[in-house]
Amino acid sequence: MALARPIRALIAVSIFLWCFFLYQIFGSSRQIRLPERFGHETDPVLELTGEPEGTLTYSSDQYKPGIPNSARINATILALVRNEELRGMIQSMRDLERTWNHKFNYPWTFFNDVPFTEEFKEKTSAETNAETRYELIPKEHWDMPPWINKDLYEESVKILKENKVQYADKLSYHSMCRWNSGMFYKHPALENMRYYWRVEPDVRFFCDVDYDVFRYMQDNNKTYGFTITLYDAPQSIPTLWPETIKFLAQHPEYLHKNNALPWLSDRTRRPEHNKQANGYSTCHFWSNFEIADMNFWRSKPYEDYFNHLDRAGGFFYERWGDAPVHSIALGLFEDSSKIHWFRDIGYQHVPFFNCPNSPKCRGCVTGKFTDGESWLHREDCRPNWFKYVGMG
Ligand code: GDP
Ligand code: MN
Repeated sequence: MALARPIRALIAVSIFLWCFFLYQIFGSSRQIRLPERFGHETDPVLELTGEPEGTLTYSSDQYKPGIPNSARINATILALVRNEELRGMIQSMRDLERTWNHKFNYPWTFFNDVPFTEEFKEKTSAETNAETRYELIPKEHWDMPPWINKDLYEESVKILKENKVQYADKLSYHSMCRWNSGMFYKHPALENMRYYWRVEPDVRFFCDVDYDVFRYMQDNNKTYGFTITLYDAPQSIPTLWPETIKFLAQHPEYLHKNNALPWLSDRTRRPEHNKQANGYSTCHFWSNFEIADMNFWRSKPYEDYFNHLDRAGGFFYERWGDAPVHSIALGLFEDSSKIHWFRDIGYQHVPFFNCPNSPKCRGCVTGKFTDGESWLHREDCRPNWFKYVGMG
């Protein structure tokens, strides 16, 4: 006998409510991404880490050093370094060659504002089978530009020092930050290069990486790769965000529709940082590690943005770093899905680590963020990236 219509309706509603109830309990929990890193069971930093999703290319005979028509793409490992940092550079090279580059033999390009010594050239080239190049930075890329007022610079340094801004009175540090922000990719030696992996002396790499990371970037349409994100010292960049807002007002068309503006302007997690930096969370990709596509830096939006900042003078009157400058530009002008967290690359630059949970890693403690004072844990802002943008 057929059921009466009201009974049928009642059964349908009950089934729907039951499904909804089950979904609330089991379904939605997988999608929740909490911003807080600690005491949160699905912390991405602790999850078992494998290779990234997408197209990967592995080592082969086509990657042997010096062969014509190799499988290598137009890419280089890149290091700005001083002659005095030879030992530290060798340490970084040994780690990166052992974990990755001996399989792919990408060239190393070294940059310096003074000529490299013969000893530097001999000892670094002995650490790799790949090609090594030693390049001098032209003075016009390094020196303080003519529109910077020297007296104002001296006065500004005093204020920065009073505010305990590290390296404020080191002119070369200001030059270095400016060069890394808007100059390095203009060097003639990089004219035919598209991708680079930035390496500093005295950094460490812990995990075997078996795929060509540059091909990963190209084949999966990525612009920028990072390992660690940190909060910056707001006293070093008080007018960086206000200048950025001025620039955006002049060029609203440069804002990408899939931008990371909520990440850049977060003020929930460290409100006092946002306040002192006048609207910028200060969260940035820690740029001593960068794997990136120079076409982004060479694009008109970035070139216009860098020139705007350069004219504003904050590389000297304040101590704007290349890390916040790169990060803000990426967060505004790039599709945030093209920014990739290289969670599988174990990395250390004192005092911070990215140490994945993976059998491919040796020599670091899984998930450990710092071996310095415990308050340094506050400097990690990756939870914000996971919250606003995700794992791309
Ligand atoms: P920190 O990481 O912010 O403490 O700064 P570093 O002292 O490590 O400098 C950042 C990078 O720039 C490193 O690769 C240094 O070797 C390099 N660097 C900094 N200042 C100079 C400089 O005056 N000349 C050269 N050639 N390299 C520099
Ligand atoms: Mn450094």
